[in-house]
Amino acid sequence: MRGKFDCFNMRQRLSPDYYITGILAHDRLVLSQAITLVESQLAADYPLAQAVLDGVLAHTGNSMRIGITGVPGVGKSTFIEVFGQHLTAQGHQLAVLALDPTSQRSGGSLLGDKTRMENLSMNPSAYIRPSPVGNALGGIGHRTRETMLLCEAAGFDIILIETVGVGQSETVVYELVDFFLLLMLAGAGDELQGMKRGIMELADALAITKADGDNGPAANRAQFEYQNALHLFPPTGTGWQPPVLTCSALTNAGMADVWQLIQEHQKLTTQNGHRAQRRQSQQVNWFRELLRQRLDGQFFGQPGIRNRMNDLENRVRQGEILPGKAVGELLG
Ligand code: GDP
Repeated sequence: MRGKFDCFNMRQRLSPDYYITGILAHDRLVLSQAITLVESQLAADYPLAQAVLDGVLAHTGNSMRIGITGVPGVGKSTFIEVFGQHLTAQGHQLAVLALDPTSQRSGGSLLGDKTRMENLSMNPSAYIRPSPVGNALGGIGHRTRETMLLCEAAGFDIILIETVGVGQSETVVYELVDFFLLLMLAGAGDELQGMKRGIMELADALAITKADGDNGPAANRAQFEYQNALHLFPPTGTGWQPPVLTCSALTNAGMADVWQLIQEHQKLTTQNGHRAQRRQSQQVNWFRELLRQRLDGQFFGQPGIRNRMNDLENRVRQGEILPGKAVGELLG
């Protein structure tokens, strides 16, 4: 499918109206094409992508944005498969964006995610789309925020953003969402789960997965331990104390509780203004990130700059020149 859109994109650039009208009419095909457009790394696509985003802007921002993270194997996709059905059964339109830091291209993981979330991918109220992380160091960042806005304009009222909790992508997701859920395994040490304290501090709630069968007692113990651990963290300053739940995608246990909890969090933070504040600071960070990317792109796009930089790096490595002076020479 991805290949088809690539060809489509190369063949012709359509008018902003084509995309805007299609998205606002909730046309899935046009939505997918628009996402491919905003993900495009061709400079020539940039103005059109911006025009489309501009055109739908007034119809964005109305969804509940939820981030889900956890180490590989914790049960993220199984959780989303079951939790997603729970949400659509209540009449919600759900978009699932999978932020995949392991793939530079979305082609590979698209198939993977669709197979992983088999029922949800066939659910007419759900839309699943991988969001490639790209090579941030090369100045090309992910476009998950833009994708999320397009999905909102296309009528999705809940956006789930999934990421693997092993690198920096969870901080990226935290910057996009209203509620951040950390899935944890019982019985696996924190080190084993690759959990840095920092990730736990970002979480609005923890859910211990696979709380079924023989694993039930261990899940309850883990719930108790993590709840105690979270009490030692400084207050979030939002009036919300992150709770720890247990759940099972196998038996559906805890799914309704997780949803109830998210709604309570949204109600509280909407009333006390923290949800709006969080979104505002995310907007500003988005601006800064894009600015940094563009400046990076412009700077490193200059002819000969990479060679000059490599040259200076060698001299810095050999101790022939101090870093500060090298930076001066490069910018000069
Ligand atoms: P991900 O890598 O975090 O997306 O994890 P997956 O959703 O692929 O799940 C990893 C494994 O755990 C799979 O074999 C699942 O069948 C299993 N699993 C996921 N959820 C549950 C659950 O609630 N209970 C049990 N017993 N197994 C589960």
